[in-house]
Amino acid sequence: KIRNDIRNIAIIAHVDHGKTTLVNELLKQSDTLAEHIQIEDRAMDTNAIERERGITILSKNTAVSYKDTKINILDTPGHADFGGEVERIMKMVDGVLLVVDAYEGTMPQTRFVLKKALEQKLTPIVVINKIDRPGARPAEVEDEVLELFIELGADESQLEFPVLYASALNGTSSYKPELDTQEHTMDPIFETILNTIPAPIDNSDEPLQFQITMLDYDDYVGRIGVGRIFRGKIKIGDQVSVMKVDGTAKNFRVTKLFGYFGLKRTEIQDAKAGDLIAISGMDDIYVGETITPVDHQEALPPLHIDEPTLQMTFLANNSPFVGREGEFVTARKLEERLLKQTRTDVSLKVEDTDLPGAWVVSGRGELHLSILVEEMRREGFELQLSRPEVIYRDIDGVKSEPFESVQIDTPDEYVGSVIDTMSQRKAEMKNMESVGNGQTRLVFLAPSRGLIGYSNEFMSLTGGYGIMSHTFEEYAPAIKNWEPGRRNGALVSINQGNSTTYSLQSVEDRGQLFIGAQVEVYEGMIVGQSSRDRDIAVNVTKGKNLTNTRASGKDHSASIKTPKTLSLEQSIEFLNDDEYCEVTPKSIRLRKKIL
Ligand code: GDP
Repeated sequence: KIRNDIRNIAIIAHVDHGKTTLVNELLKQSDTLAEHIQIEDRAMDTNAIERERGITILSKNTAVSYKDTKINILDTPGHADFGGEVERIMKMVDGVLLVVDAYEGTMPQTRFVLKKALEQKLTPIVVINKIDRPGARPAEVEDEVLELFIELGADESQLEFPVLYASALNGTSSYKPELDTQEHTMDPIFETILNTIPAPIDNSDEPLQFQITMLDYDDYVGRIGVGRIFRGKIKIGDQVSVMKVDGTAKNFRVTKLFGYFGLKRTEIQDAKAGDLIAISGMDDIYVGETITPVDHQEALPPLHIDEPTLQMTFLANNSPFVGREGEFVTARKLEERLLKQTRTDVSLKVEDTDLPGAWVVSGRGELHLSILVEEMRREGFELQLSRPEVIYRDIDGVKSEPFESVQIDTPDEYVGSVIDTMSQRKAEMKNMESVGNGQTRLVFLAPSRGLIGYSNEFMSLTGGYGIMSHTFEEYAPAIKNWEPGRRNGALVSINQGNSTTYSLQSVEDRGQLFIGAQVEVYEGMIVGQSSRDRDIAVNVTKGKNLTNTRASGKDHSASIKTPKTLSLEQSIEFLNDDEYCEVTPKSIRLRKKIL
């Protein structure tokens, strides 16, 4: 028995290849009740950060209906930092729609997501979009897609993917690589989804298994668990058990269920196997948990959640540690904001620190954390950040650090410098092959520590033509006696003489930066200097006591007379790349160099 009234798919596309336009058009041309669609809503509208970064960060659900069939379309994040989430989304669907620009062709950034989809044995449909574009080369792009499928290990049936040609802009799609301007219709895409994507199995007579795959949050109903009903059915008023991943169970009565219609989440009374739904009313519901009948507690296997590998300290600007005056952002607001993020982002961890107004935030990688920082800055938060540091683990008594698999596509002429810089960063080359068109593909296994800050260097090294993607691979024994050579915030000179000068230079491209040097200073003075007409702050702590000074305006330098012994931790703020800071105590001893 199957449920022919439903199809669940995920959509994969490189940014700008037309995913939003396409889904919007599917919505417009679908039989989805008009009341559920607001014309000004752009389906899956990507936010500004997504657009700039060229990746999808947020997963969004859209549901359209066509010929009495409901099609759930899940958006997928497009970067390896979100691998766990991609994997979970792929578990909720039976097929994928891969949208490729008929002019640009396949892009490496979508490879990762497509690979996950193929691994899950999902049924693919390929939509070659923008065939109206001058210079569109649908036939070649189709070959590229086929090659990519082969390379990613697609099985026989997946290689027989149907191909559709579309101009989402004109609301047209076709079975042939030519524009049929007469026929303004998305029907070929709808029909292909209905005909090729497997309908969910209808085992709604069996005991309920509803697994939570994602978390959402709403001010009215609080925490929301989103997932697929894999077996059985559920309705308001049911007594159910939530099976925790540790095997324990908790009973509760179902009070609110939601389904997806158009772009909206709407309350529903009941749902059954195959449906993608949301549930609220359980404050501690979590990803991977299975909701079952009370008398038939059978959990589904837990889902993969990426463990954080990188951490940064977030510091509120008004914390006594920073002591900036007139700041409206309180430490409490910062904490609230961080906790809000953890409600829906299960790969993020936030911990208190001994310092007032400072939290350690752990995440999947530099991108994961930097997106959060960017979002918060856009919301008006002013933060200071420490340099990202990898999270070490103790595995069977051995100190281990995270390693990543790095894939680089670069024009041939830069291969030498890429290999040089990667080996300086202790990366081990696993593979090198020519991929034609004067391009080479390199694969490395690299310690995450070595990759911090590499992407900027890599971009300038390859003149902007290189493409790098990396995925967490494993924790392995930490490399001993090695501090990665840093370009950013490097300790660039030590002058011995009457005074010792540590010049800490930042080439970070934007924002503020914590200097992570811990030094012991004896009867010294610490001077912060800004080379431009900008603010600079020097903060010194001893335990929790803080001495702070800020400089701005004409002299743009600040100094602090230091007590006899103190440790200078994470304290100098840079506002731009042409600024620098000098620490010039009479006597200074470097205790631990983290820079
Ligand atoms: P997304 O980033 O994948 O969601 O891409 P969008 O749907 O936002 O589209 C990116 C740009 O491509 C927009 O300017 C669209 O108007 C344009 N676009 C989308 N589909 C087509 C198409 O079929 N033909 C042409 N010429 N442009 C398109």
